[in-house]
Amino acid sequence: MSHRILLLGAPGAGKGTQSKRLAAEYGIDHVTTGDALRANKEMETEYGTPKSFMDAGELVPDPVVNEIVQAALDDADGFVLDGYPRNLDQAEYLSSITDLDAVIFLDVDEDVLVDRLTGRRMDPETGDIYHVEFNWPDDEAVQERLVQREDDEEDTVRDRLEVYRENTEPVIEHFRDRGDLVEIDGEAAPDEVFDRIADVVEG
Ligand code: ADP
Ligand code: ADP
Repeated sequence: MSHRILLLGAPGAGKGTQSKRLAAEYGIDHVTTGDALRANKEMETEYGTPKSFMDAGELVPDPVVNEIVQAALDDADGFVLDGYPRNLDQAEYLSSITDLDAVIFLDVDEDVLVDRLTGRRMDPETGDIYHVEFNWPDDEAVQERLVQREDDEEDTVRDRLEVYRENTEPVIEHFRDRGDLVEIDGEAAPDEVFDRIADVVEG
């Protein structure tokens, strides 16, 4: 059976970490606007490059991200969608192009989010997500190649959380009002969060 899963949550809530595992577990595509935009940061669009918005912690204009998501979902049998929709217009666009089987919100407090984002490190070779304190790799070769995302510096982190409160929290409310939202404590250990998501997906 294919699954169409939407994972919602603030920056740093653990969407990427969980999505990677869900994609592997269920053999579905991980559709993430953040990674897609980072891979095309310098692409010229009529609004400018994605980079100009991302470096400031702002949202990339809707037409650019809507197109990325539509193309990715067209190609996918099942998917876990991560990082989209980030405002109500994107939510409306999404509902016009697909149905969802599960809408899950990872709930994490703001002070925890700041620590998670500023300590986040990425493996440029595998795309794996680590943390200086909460999830440090044992392999020294991996440790040495880890990098910090530019927008994970504290100033930009604060801006991104502000953008989240203003634009994305209404999306959470929208799904909550529709009665579709399943809320999971995102502050639990990663394995526990994964088990709870799997219960929802398989339930
Ligand atoms: P998002 O995609 O929602 O921004 P990530 O999956 O990139 O979030 O996680 C943000 C940071 O928090 C990463 O450094 C990750 O290793 C760490 N992290 C993710 N889930 C947990 C968890 N349940 N407990 C502690 N740290 C976590
Ligand atoms: P995080 O892991 O912290 O949630 P992402 O990797 O999802 O961050 O996003 C990084 C940046 O990419 C955002 O700050 C924003 O500039 C841009 N971006 C990602 N997804 C979207 C989207 N759906 N709409 C607009 N901008 C987006």
